[in-house]
Amino acid sequence: MKNQEVARIFREIAKILELKGENVFRIRAYEHAAQSLDNLEDAIEVVAGKGALKEIPGIGADLAEKIKEIIKTGKLKYLDELKKKMPDGLVKMMEIPSLGPKTVKKLYEELKIDSVEKLEKAVREGKLKNLEGIREKTEENILRGIGLIKKGASRQPINFALNVAKTFLDSLKVMEEIDKIEVAGSLRRQKDTVKDIDILITSKNPKPIMDKFVTLPLVKEILAHGETKSSIVAKENNMQVDLRVVEDNSFGAALLYFTGSKEFNIKLRQLAIKKGLKVNEYGVFRGNKKLAGKTEKDIFSLFKMDYIPPELREDRGEIDAAICGKLPKLVGLKDIKGDFHVHSKYSDGLSSIEEIAKKIETYNYEYVAICDHSQSLKVAGGLSKEEVYKKLKEIEKINKESKVRILSGTEVDITSDGGIDYSESILKEFDVVIAAIHTGFKQTRVQLTKRITSACKNKYVNIIAHPTGRLWGVREPYDIDIDEICKAAKDNQVALEINCYPQRLDLSDANVMHAKKKGVKFALGTDSHQLDQLRSMGLGLSVARRGWLTKTDIINCLNFDKLMEWLKK
Ligand SMILES: [Zn+2]
Ligand SMILES: [Zn+2]
Repeated sequence: MKNQEVARIFREIAKILELKGENVFRIRAYEHAAQSLDNLEDAIEVVAGKGALKEIPGIGADLAEKIKEIIKTGKLKYLDELKKKMPDGLVKMMEIPSLGPKTVKKLYEELKIDSVEKLEKAVREGKLKNLEGIREKTEENILRGIGLIKKGASRQPINFALNVAKTFLDSLKVMEEIDKIEVAGSLRRQKDTVKDIDILITSKNPKPIMDKFVTLPLVKEILAHGETKSSIVAKENNMQVDLRVVEDNSFGAALLYFTGSKEFNIKLRQLAIKKGLKVNEYGVFRGNKKLAGKTEKDIFSLFKMDYIPPELREDRGEIDAAICGKLPKLVGLKDIKGDFHVHSKYSDGLSSIEEIAKKIETYNYEYVAICDHSQSLKVAGGLSKEEVYKKLKEIEKINKESKVRILSGTEVDITSDGGIDYSESILKEFDVVIAAIHTGFKQTRVQLTKRITSACKNKYVNIIAHPTGRLWGVREPYDIDIDEICKAAKDNQVALEINCYPQRLDLSDANVMHAKKKGVKFALGTDSHQLDQLRSMGLGLSVARRGWLTKTDIINCLNFDKLMEWLKK
């Protein structure tokens, strides 16, 4: 699957064009195409094979040709040409949040800064001070941005890792030499960001598997090529992938060990010692006698505890809960009856409400809430009062024929003083109102908290979307008092969102766990802007599971009638 690879090339082109000061529409076209590829369900090679590239949103004749070239040759002449005229480091510098192309160009032309390292040094030495347009605040932001990039370089959002892992698994699974194959590590625990990918296999004849692994087309660099372990760097996102062969009768022990987390493993080892046992990646032993190791289940039952799902293995109390039989019955995809956060063409989504309704029918959901932006968010096509009424009429019409219920919804803006940017006379027309902060992130903790708590008190607001505002690689969560927000949410029957958009996943698992203890309910929303994004519900579910949620914690698990009751607060 080369989807990510093509998307990465298009993004790089967009950045270089931006640096060259090219036409914004050309730049947007590449960015838009990259985003479509990120979300594409099918492998791009397959789509190209069917001659259907131009059916992908944002792909016209020119980009279709470029995609074919990348599939065929693994690179793109056009990008190579562009790069010849541009130092490599400048493109990397543009990844620093808050640093626009104009500033990068200026830094290069006036101070000869052409890499992130040189930039960091220059800021620390105060060399930017004399540069026109650079203020102290900008310097601070640059350093923060460099920090974010450094962090981002070592961890990737889970959806990237899932794509990379799938590509490797698909290529290896077909080999008859492989008996068992399983992903371990933080990816198996479904952590929101992943550093590297661990794959475990059992095999009586591992050599051909190792040989194939290190020569797969996705491999950029071989770090190790051994008989029982090999490591490579993948072309996609420079992720490290480790492949290990283990003995069949140790497979469970190895899976447990390499799945972690480290903290969980330590806790388990301590428990073993108390019982006079030893646990490691080969099995559980009393002296030299092996008592278990073939499956994880065997090991958990030897320890007289319930099976702990990988998502919970973080040493957050799961071992004690498993011993007492008190693990939560985690929510699953089959429990989900709808999606609360979908944008249509009315605002900045790509699909009509009818198209969304058709697609949702394939999901076994009972309902979907179309929540377009409200009037003050003009950049995202926020709806005027007139457009709202037009949309409500259209939904009413579609509901007469649709198998799933379309809920009329809106994603309103919480203004800088905690107000809502539609009047009550409009708000009361919607089935679902979700409220969110989209501007003024730099307010103080007290101000931001107050904005959200007053939104909770609005009698029409049902859900607070992406409550902490974090956006991977762009923005850290803003500083809010989560306890106060939980209290306001609970007291006013407002659900906190788990936004399933891969770069958001907000609330985070730790916040979810915390909020659950405070008695808060949750709403999962994909924040889809195109149809393929609807399937990121799975990512939000991972967060929910890691936060110990059961179906009673989540309003998406209510059937239609119960939901409508809940929404009328
Ligand atoms: Zn939003
Ligand atoms: Zn949204």
